[in-house]
Amino acid sequence: MNADYRAPRAGRVSSGVTLPEAPGQLPLFLEVAQAVVELSEHKSLRSFSLPYPSRAQRALDRMVLHCLALGQAPPRAVPELLEWCARRVVSDPVFGVPDTLVAPDARLIDPVGRMPTRTCLELASHGPDGVVEQRARNLLGSLEARCGSAERFLRCRSFLARHPVVHQHHRFQRGWDKAGWTHVRNLYRPVPESVLSAGLLLRCNGCGLPALLRDGVEPWTGALVSGAETWCENEGCPHGTPLTLIRDPSHALVLDRSLRSFLALPYAVEQAALDELDRVAIGYEPLPGGFSGYRLRDVAAPARTLYLYDRLQPALLAARCAAPETLSAGPAFVVIPERLAHRADYRATFAAALPEELRERVTLTTPRGLIQALRSPFARSQATMPGYRPPPTADHDRRDDHA
Ligand SMILES: [Zn+2]
Repeated sequence: MNADYRAPRAGRVSSGVTLPEAPGQLPLFLEVAQAVVELSEHKSLRSFSLPYPSRAQRALDRMVLHCLALGQAPPRAVPELLEWCARRVVSDPVFGVPDTLVAPDARLIDPVGRMPTRTCLELASHGPDGVVEQRARNLLGSLEARCGSAERFLRCRSFLARHPVVHQHHRFQRGWDKAGWTHVRNLYRPVPESVLSAGLLLRCNGCGLPALLRDGVEPWTGALVSGAETWCENEGCPHGTPLTLIRDPSHALVLDRSLRSFLALPYAVEQAALDELDRVAIGYEPLPGGFSGYRLRDVAAPARTLYLYDRLQPALLAARCAAPETLSAGPAFVVIPERLAHRADYRATFAAALPEELRERVTLTTPRGLIQALRSPFARSQATMPGYRPPPTADHDRRDDHA
């Protein structure tokens, strides 16, 4: 499967069983991923009950047919399907996610947090019928249109990225941008049941995003630091990261999940990369739409562009980079966090999934390697990553590392 994989095809699963997919129908695993995301927006995935939203019902019906074709016992209801998503890996024949698209040991629901994993969100955003990242893009596009000026939009965008959770008391603090808040207020939601632990909200101090405890236990019975029994939406914060308890979540608002995952989460990488450009006085301007892309103001022709991403699945990232709505003409530099870039398997999978015609044009790098990559006349090979330098020590500069 290559990076410009498009959804409506016959779905060959790893067992060799070919499923009849109606023309225009999503592959079943994409349908399941999107259903999981939709369900989690409202209710806890621990106790989902009837009536099921139509997407979840459709995913269940298709999974039942699929299991019968495989000769396996089908799930009896949506809660059992969700349980499968937490217990079974994506390469399990019931899901049949190709290992060229997603790492085979990934899951769609985190077994501790009981929330859609980042892999699930990335998968639900894959292809022209994706829903999560596309929602983030649409919300930012509407905000840009509402703001009226580029300067105000960038201020609002920065506020969103730095404030995934807003508590009522923030609004009475000195320096609160009251005018800016009126532009972004509609992008915040009441805290959904799915991110509450026994009615309380936990916020991870590492990434600023909501966190959960295993089985939704009452937070005051355990240490308020991250560990094996906790989960945060970043999924990468080190154990021992403090968690802040918000005891009155009805007085808090959370940023729309799509923007938490696709704007707030990669913001650390974005800031680190832009700091590097500032350090060597390379000018840049945001691409229209405000989605983590910048055009460099330099003498290269055609113009060089920079894209900032924090994605767990390199093949899905390659597909995103190859999408026609993403990539502009000319050389492109895709900046990712150090902790992903130092993995040879991540770089190799990204390179293999990138369409051949883009391999000469797209350079994968990190904030620390960006300037060298920009200056390298041979900044092409993905596997060798000319702009990438391994971190010198385990506790190297972690500016972009927590994201
Ligand atoms: Zn975190």
